Order: sequence, then C-alpha cells, then structure tokens
Amino acid sequence: MRTVDSRREFLRGLAVGSMVLPAGTMLGQEAIHLGSRVVEAPNVYRSGPAVIENGKVVQPRHEIRVLSDTEVLVVGGGCAGVIAALAAARAGQRVTLVERYGCFGGLWTAGLVLIVLATHVKTQAGLTKCVRGIGDELLQRLLAIKGGIINQGPGMRNPTSDPEATKYVMAEMLREAGVEILLHSWAVNAIMQSNDVKGVVFESKSSSYAITSRIVVDATGDGDVYAAAGAEHVRHIHRIGLVHRLGNVDRIDNSTAAAGAGTRKPGAVTPHPSVRWVNMQGPQGDCLDVKTLTQTELDGRRAVWQQVKALQQRPGHEQVFLLDTASQLGIRASRTLKGLVVPTYEEAMKGKRYRDSVGVGGGGDFLGERACDIPYGALVPVKVDNLLAAGRCIAGDNLMMNYLRLIGPCLVSGQAAGAAAALAVQRRRRPRDLEVVQLQALLKKQGVHFG
Ligand SMILES: Cc1cc2nc3c(=O)[nH]c(=O)nc-3n(C[C@H](O)[C@H](O)[C@H](O)COP(=O)(O)OP(=O)(O)OC[C@H]3O[C@@H](n4cnc5c(N)ncnc54)[C@H](O)[C@@H]3O)c2cc1C
Repeated sequence: MRTVDSRREFLRGLAVGSMVLPAGTMLGQEAIHLGSRVVEAPNVYRSGPAVIENGKVVQPRHEIRVLSDTEVLVVGGGCAGVIAALAAARAGQRVTLVERYGCFGGLWTAGLVLIVLATHVKTQAGLTKCVRGIGDELLQRLLAIKGGIINQGPGMRNPTSDPEATKYVMAEMLREAGVEILLHSWAVNAIMQSNDVKGVVFESKSSSYAITSRIVVDATGDGDVYAAAGAEHVRHIHRIGLVHRLGNVDRIDNSTAAAGAGTRKPGAVTPHPSVRWVNMQGPQGDCLDVKTLTQTELDGRRAVWQQVKALQQRPGHEQVFLLDTASQLGIRASRTLKGLVVPTYEEAMKGKRYRDSVGVGGGGDFLGERACDIPYGALVPVKVDNLLAAGRCIAGDNLMMNYLRLIGPCLVSGQAAGAAAALAVQRRRRPRDLEVVQLQALLKKQGVHFG
C-alpha cells in the first residue's frame, strides 16, 4: 500500500524526468544517482528452488500467498477484459483486473491492430451502430482526445485509434470505476474446488501469488484460465502476424514517387497524418508453442525491417521510417471454448436470433451487412463453474470464430461477461443458472444494443 508520503515522493519522481528539467537537458554526472538508494532486501515469498529428483526437474509443493480476495476477477486486459471489468464494476461489484504486460488493450494497442471492425451494419436507412454500451463509450472518449481516433462518429465506421491514447483512456476508465488493477502478472493456474473455479495463481516479479474470487472471467484471448481449469475447448492453428507502423508518410515526395512506383501511400490510415499502420498476415502456426512464437517473432521482425528498407529505396519514399513494431505478437486464435452454445457461421449468415443473446455485433465484410447476435451460452463452459470467457476465446465454430475475434464483437462479449459475472455474484448463482432476462435487462441498462 502506498503511503501519502511515498506517493508524494513518487509524484516528485515523475516530475524530475518530465517537467523540472528544461527540455533537452541531459542528466549530468551529478544527477546520475538521483533517486537511487539501498533498501533492505524485501522478504519475497519464495517457494525455494526446483530440484532434480530421479533425473527430473521437480518444483517443490508449496503454499501460495493469497494477495487478495475479490468478487469478480478478470484475467487479461485486452479490449474484452477491460470492458468486462468496467461492466462488472459499474454493476456494483468489487473487481480485480490482472494483466501480464504493462498496459491495456492487448492486440488492439500492444498488437497495433488499431482498426475496430464489425461495429456497424449498413441498411437502406444508412449506417446503424451495433456496438454500443461501454465499448462505444470508450470510442467516444477517444474522439474527445486530439489525435485519439479517426473515422469515429455519425456516418462513419471502421474507426482507427491511436494505441497510446487507447491505453490511456482504458486505464482512466478503469481507475474511475474503482477497478483494482494488477499489471506484470501472468496467470499460470486455476484454483479449483471440485468443479468450481475459486481463483487464479499468477507469477510475477514478487513471486507466485493467488487471487481468490467468486467468479473468474477468462479474457486472456488464449483461454489460459479455462484450459488450466480443465474446461473443454478447441485448439486452433492460425496465421501469426507482426503489425508495424511507418512514420514520415506525409513526407513522401509525390512528384518523385509518381515517376517511380506510384503515389499510393503504404499501409492504412491512423489518426496522425504522418503515421500509417501495416498489417501482416504471417505464417500459420501453433500460437501456444513457445518455439513457434519465438521463430515467428524473429522472422517477422526481419521481414518488416527488409520491407521498410525496400520501401525507402522507392523514389520519393526516402524519408519514410519504421516507427515501431507491435510489442505483442499478432495471435489470431489459439483456443476457443466449448460453450453451452457454439454459434456457427452458417447460423450467422441465416441471421439466426438467439433467445440468450447478450448483444449484437456489426456486420462488416465477413458477414455481409448482417448484424450478429452473440449468445450468452458461448461464454459459459460446458462443465466448469464460476467461470466465463470473453473476447476472442469464446465459443464459435472455426469460421464464426474469425468473426467473433474482431474487436467490435469482443467489446460486446466483454461487456456481457462482466455483467453476467456481477449478476452471478449478486444473485448467488452459478453463471449457467442466471436468468438470461435479468442479464439482458442489466446489459440494456448499460447501453447494449440488441438489434
Ligand atoms: C494481425 C492481426 C490483425 C487483426 N486485424 C484486425 C482488424 O483489422 N480489426 C479488428 O477488429 N480485429 C482485428 N484482429 C483481431 C483483434 O485484434 C483481436 O482478436 C482482439 O483485439 C482480441 O481482443 P481480446 O481482448 O479478446 O484478446 P487480446 O487482445 O489478445 O487480449 C488478451 C489480454 O490478455 C493478456 N494475457 C494473455 N495471457 C495472459 C495470462 N496468462 N495472464 C495474464 N494476462 C494474459 C494479454 O497480454 C492481453 O492484454 C486482428 C488480429 C491480428 C492478430
């Protein structure tokens, strides 16, 4: 817990780097030790080293420190997890959100995906916004920030946001809602009591810790928690990409470019005229295999570098540079839940309406201009209890999964999972036993659109 004094010291520390020193000032020799002091070695809770027994590496059995107890534990701070945490907190629950990296947004921000698809449908009357509720509120808040988002607002779709603005707004919204946040923590196991999930074990710099909770929402994208809990699921092989951004694109010299390879700008728009983002399909691979992830990351980085070097050779493109590559590798799919309901692409194309719908996603290219019901059953495991899935790891057949993993539908399933978790706590029910009508009423109150 940070004391008032240490908080003041912390804020003073922020000021040293950013505000007190005049712009351009380097830290001189006399300042190099600023903020450095020796502290007593903390009593980090360690289980002791692993040992070799009969030629096998064995982790000793040990008690795990319980860091906190909460009502709703959301694991994974991508778009689905953030919206789930907000929905549960706004419904009145104590919520803890745990994320393995240092920022929110997952693939949308750290993965530099940026463009939010499947938010609207086009009808004869014009564009209808399907993704409303907290997801849309987030997009609207980005609109209020200079350079936060483009193509957001009446008559527009496929908004593209700035990753830093998105990380910032997400964190602000979570703090405003009173969500307990823990970053730099990797979920490694589920805590089970017979068939019920009772919490999650995390690894962190301060060693392993557990958080116990009434309901857990798995928003890891990869279903890490439900897999650990033994929930039935499907594994996927998919393409893995590494998205990047280009800078100085507004400095492309069109007079020279026209004489060379043409004036078409590389990549796609961002809120900044000088910056474009470039998607990558990438090779197929097992997104849960660490060697595949390593190789894809290394190969992807080399490919992007060479691509940008080649671009710089084109007449007029000399000033373009590689602004950044995604810090989170582009995992499209690894696990999807076997849910109480497994929505299929065929059903979606027939416009199937579900009795247990928790909102609709927009059509986009993938479903033509059909709005798409997302059924609650796609979030609920067949057997394991006190657990819900959100985002790209919910249930769907192999084609439908490619729709449900788009950011628009992930915002919808995230809000549904958070609201359902809150309701389950309030009614002292298992998620599978919730009255769907009550869940729908809560979601409507939170602004969700049901088509
Ligand atoms: C290359 C690529 C291009 C895409 N293009 C588009 C596009 O143009 N438009 C579109 O709408 N969608 C696109 N998508 C899909 C979309 O970006 C994602 O499916 C969506 O953002 C998923 O959101 P999520 O919150 O479910 O998962 P994620 O964004 O993956 O978030 C999961 C979060 O959980 C954290 N996490 C994971 N495991 C653990 C763990 N064990 N412990 C703790 N935290 C954990 C992660 O760090 C992450 O923050 C694309 C995807 C890729 C890969």
